[in-house]
Amino acid sequence: MLNETHDPSLTSWVASANQADSDFPIQNLPFAVFRMADSDEYFRGGVAIGDQVLDLAAVASIGLFKGLAQDALNACTHEELNEFMAMGKDAWSALRLALSRSLRNGAAEEPVLESCLVAQADVEFKVPCLIHDFTDFYASVYHAEAVGALFRPDNPLLPNYKWVPVGYHGRASSIGVSGQMFPRPMGQIKSPDSDAPGFGPCERLDYEVEVGVYVGVGNELGQSISMEEAEDYIFGLSLLNDWSARDIQAWEYQPLGPFLAKSFASTVSPWIITSEALLPFRAEFSRPEGDPQPLPYLASEANSVTGSFDVTLNCFVRTAGSDRDNQVSSSNFKHSYWTVAQMITHHTVNGCNLQPGDLLGSGTQSGPEPQEAGSLLELTQGGKVPVELANGEQRRFLEDGDSVIMRGYCEREGFRRLGFGEVVSTVLPAGSFNKHNGSIH
Ligand code: MN
Repeated sequence: MLNETHDPSLTSWVASANQADSDFPIQNLPFAVFRMADSDEYFRGGVAIGDQVLDLAAVASIGLFKGLAQDALNACTHEELNEFMAMGKDAWSALRLALSRSLRNGAAEEPVLESCLVAQADVEFKVPCLIHDFTDFYASVYHAEAVGALFRPDNPLLPNYKWVPVGYHGRASSIGVSGQMFPRPMGQIKSPDSDAPGFGPCERLDYEVEVGVYVGVGNELGQSISMEEAEDYIFGLSLLNDWSARDIQAWEYQPLGPFLAKSFASTVSPWIITSEALLPFRAEFSRPEGDPQPLPYLASEANSVTGSFDVTLNCFVRTAGSDRDNQVSSSNFKHSYWTVAQMITHHTVNGCNLQPGDLLGSGTQSGPEPQEAGSLLELTQGGKVPVELANGEQRRFLEDGDSVIMRGYCEREGFRRLGFGEVVSTVLPAGSFNKHNGSIH
């Protein structure tokens, strides 16, 4: 249900929000948790508007809003957004409407709210909520086919793929926010031509371009979430880089799936783009001719009409010796073989309880074309063909000092373009945290 907050003609008294290329116009209003950079301030909720952050703790202390909007605002003053996320869509929507009205051009609130703005360039972020559990799906059939062909040339797509939204239980403790730096993982690696594995630093370090889905409202253990209800449980989406050690993965993954190849780091973008902001960018969901239709518990009329999200996902590699962002791929979340609603319904169909703030990864979002591959594993055909970067360097897999940057945006005629901002993270040499006694947070 589109409403006045989606009106493309709305402009803000925060001038930078009105620039056509801004990721954060007044129609977006995404949530993060922040504080002034390099300070010992407490972290609290913020909303992006142009190149600024609206400090929600500062706004809450003024007591500007009424009723549910003020209750929701009060829940955003903590260093985790779980309480706000658990309040549900009426509360999310009430706060969005109040923020939209008070940030518009001509709003009477401008003089008081102006003092609650800080420049995004001056702040640091943290993971926006306590993520109890992280589940990573495998929802791009293009990725599944390409990776399957590399790992199992004789049997690329396993027979369950087109029936079950396949996923595994990921590691929540090593999820960091954009800016994360982590050492190259160590592990067991077995080359195809040796009989036994060796131990050493990962030599096939890769990224995965994914969409992160934040669960808002949870469900009780034993209760499932139907397709008709699933959308109400989605708080919003972010960008997610699911770092992967391909050589460790190849040796360890059978029969129980990824383990240490994935658990050393995953990086999220700071901003959560709410489901409500993304309403204009929903897209139809359909299956190619000849593919099985989803079982009835994974189907709904609404899911067929608007189950997908049209989000462009661009990926860049920045090497240590250069400040250039070299684009390596561009894909779109609308290619996903399974929708977010199907992931939520399938996840809970056995009675498993989701909790506010749980993170679902979409799986690597590769599209049908070669340049839409969301990992180096696919772009280089398993490391065989190097990728030529625009700065003249080549990569088969990532080298120490490389940063991977992902950016996302939504565009549709008749609506204001929205951006996701970016997620950037950097590979450090193996063992570097031991030497420097650093920590991942
Ligand atoms: Mn993944």
